[in-house]
Amino acid sequence: MLAPLSDEVWIDVTGAQRAENAQRIVAFGTPRPALADLVRQAREADGTPVLGGGEPTLGSDLPDLVAAVSEAIGSQWVLATDGLALTQPGPLASLAQRGLTTLRVRLVSARPDAHDWFYGRPGATKAAVRALRTAAAAGITTQIEVPLIRPTVDHLAETLEVAARVSASAVLAVHYDPGRFPRDEQVTLTPRLGLLEQPLTDTAAAALRLGVTFAVADLPQCFLPEGVAACRVRQSRPTPAAPCGPDCPGAPTCVGVPEVYRSLFGSSELPAGPPTDLAEDDFSGTSRQIRMRLVRHGEHATHLRVTAIDHPDAAALLREALRLGFARVEVAADLAPLAAFSDDELHRLRRLTALRPTGPVPPDLRERIGRIAPQVELGSTS
Ligand code: SF4
Repeated sequence: MLAPLSDEVWIDVTGAQRAENAQRIVAFGTPRPALADLVRQAREADGTPVLGGGEPTLGSDLPDLVAAVSEAIGSQWVLATDGLALTQPGPLASLAQRGLTTLRVRLVSARPDAHDWFYGRPGATKAAVRALRTAAAAGITTQIEVPLIRPTVDHLAETLEVAARVSASAVLAVHYDPGRFPRDEQVTLTPRLGLLEQPLTDTAAAALRLGVTFAVADLPQCFLPEGVAACRVRQSRPTPAAPCGPDCPGAPTCVGVPEVYRSLFGSSELPAGPPTDLAEDDFSGTSRQIRMRLVRHGEHATHLRVTAIDHPDAAALLREALRLGFARVEVAADLAPLAAFSDDELHRLRRLTALRPTGPVPPDLRERIGRIAPQVELGSTS
């Protein structure tokens, strides 16, 4: 029985400025931490510390960092790298002497055209594989981290076979929030959740056959195929995600389906939403975000309550809400922005069920509503 990968805490060693070797995964924008701070983070980590982020081998103080972390917490931590600087025995032996016992190398695919393309660096695949072999020969335990991306997700089992050939002990496939990819490549790079079952199942079968530990990190729980081990990282997600299903355990059990994923691909693959009758929206965010939210509310709710209308597009957004087939649409908010609506805009809102003011009703608004949209129930201040 292979030991499962425990949950991890990723520690960004280099800061965003040093992320040039991972151009297609956007760093979090944290400044480069001081060495003592990194050691403290490793000591306090609630899981296996993984020192990576950007490219740790670019820092001249890497040997000092390795020595300091080893001294502080022993051998239970991982150094994550693209492997470019670790293809020769010398640097690896030096890090091993200072206490490095586990090296993880990122590889989106063992096919050079794919991995070199992803990292924008010819020769990156060869270097990564060489680093894995050299480290294993130096007695360092090796792992492969596979960012799950759409162009290579079907190569995952093949990558695991390469892991076995270079004596890597584990493969960790990481499901990234699409928000970590450059905006113009999010659709190209993000794997569809509904299509992951087969590649993950095939890879888990290959892992069993070849004796390599395999786990998937940060995949929304409902999309984890039976028999595939999960591991939590969470730092791969810049934005929180709302629960999406009726029996959803939510956080911390599941990282959820990222908002960016829903905006790229809609909700058709996701578990059906909870059978709530009422959805509330405060019209926060951009008009596009609000429109997408309204559509989602319409998939689950029969009643919509808008709790704030101080948005420049509030008139158009309310019209949009009225077109979405809710049985009731009401505004329970400060109605001051309505005073700025033209008569025509107010007339187009005549199918609103109710206006429930939460503050003073502007002078004349009651008279205008009564004249232009008399069907709308205008309550008194709550
Ligand atoms: S957030 Fe809930 S419903 Fe959505 S994938 Fe996770 S467990 Fe499933």
